[in-house]
Amino acid sequence: MKFYSTNKKTVPVSFETAVIKGIAEDGGLYLPGSFPVLKDDFFSNIEQFSFNEIALEVLNPFLKDEIGEDDLKKIIERAFNFTTPLVELSDDLHVLELFHGPTLAFKDFGARFMAQVLSYFLKGSDKKIYILVATSGDTGSAVANGFYNLPGINVILLYPSGKVSAIQEKQLTTFGKNITSLEVNGNFDDCQRMVKQAFSDKDLNEKLQLSSGNSINIARLLPQSLYYFYAFALVKNKQLPVVFSVPCGNLGNLTGALIAKKMGLPVAKFIAGLNSNSVFYEYLQTGQFNPRTTIRTISNAMDVGNPSNFFRIKEMFNNDYELIKNIIFSRYFSDEETIGGIKEVHKMFGYMIDPHGAVGYLALKEFLQENKSGNINGIILETAHPAKFMDVIEGAIGEKIIIPERLKSCLGKEKKSTKISSDFYELNEFLINY
Ligand SMILES: *Cc1c(COP(=O)(O)O)cnc(C)c1O
Repeated sequence: MKFYSTNKKTVPVSFETAVIKGIAEDGGLYLPGSFPVLKDDFFSNIEQFSFNEIALEVLNPFLKDEIGEDDLKKIIERAFNFTTPLVELSDDLHVLELFHGPTLAFKDFGARFMAQVLSYFLKGSDKKIYILVATSGDTGSAVANGFYNLPGINVILLYPSGKVSAIQEKQLTTFGKNITSLEVNGNFDDCQRMVKQAFSDKDLNEKLQLSSGNSINIARLLPQSLYYFYAFALVKNKQLPVVFSVPCGNLGNLTGALIAKKMGLPVAKFIAGLNSNSVFYEYLQTGQFNPRTTIRTISNAMDVGNPSNFFRIKEMFNNDYELIKNIIFSRYFSDEETIGGIKEVHKMFGYMIDPHGAVGYLALKEFLQENKSGNINGIILETAHPAKFMDVIEGAIGEKIIIPERLKSCLGKEKKSTKISSDFYELNEFLINY
């Protein structure tokens, strides 16, 4: 299968090229040439499949020209070596826990798969790839973890000094080996600008093979469709309509959901839960897409004022606004409401939900109130472990959070970072002398 750019000004490319390039030359994002619909008997027997078996069924149609089934199986086993439980809160309310990966956020799915795929394509060559990532928190550690210790690949993380949480900084700076953390004296936008400049610097690109670990990479997007199939496999009463509530930022997780739908997964509705960065909600209300500067909130991984996957969603639905509006319901919530959601979930169900999941919960609740459509399988995607947002949650519910071992272990390690200014010249020097 070929992968084409949403801007359609370049020729379609192989999966390998799409993964290595990250973004198309015309500035567009890659999408698969088609979305193969899976067979009826896959869906009618789906509860007999493990997560990794589902992954093979779903990914194989896209990748079979370039990655043989046995190799794909190995890639899947290495990438998804953690569980994805569906927790029942009540008859019609479930939480799909996507935080059981090594860095405690759903980004482990995409980042670990991308790392295995790149490493597969590099095998046997003496090429060296430099993955650049600007991060404001979760992305950097998920990418670093995925690529840690893989031969031929060096990861360079740029994060804004003093602007990530203490836990996040530990997660970003304690890897060592092929992971380097650059602590930029500037903000997240400076980090992003420097990475962009590196990609457009001719001299630098002639010397080094640079690649992006950014979330728009197609190898990070495809695996984000897998857990929707798996959640469907786990629900008990498949006769009831399935509704997914997705806490959204860059809309990559939601795009994964829409891929699952295109491949035949029977989903009645998708809910896009947003914080005060409500650009996508406004689009669904008015048909107008007006990107804005980012507002800081307590669900900070969703603080995106210009969601890049919007153009993928539009393209997947042939720019048909009515169609998009009919399948996606959206609401947005303030920080105060989000804290209310954390408290309510704890009080009603005894469940600790993180600020991102709480937005998903509130959006699903609104949907149920506005659409009294009888019983459903409501599934909230819980995208991060509550321990990552300890202060907010302990403040809301007045209880201590137990920190998982895999997070605790990096908290005891020594921070190693190289301080640089926000001048591109310094990044350039660093890379050339790597
Ligand atoms: C990245 C992230 C999101 C937002 O996902 P998108 O794919 O960018 O919409 C939500 N929650 C958490 C915890 C995240 O890390």
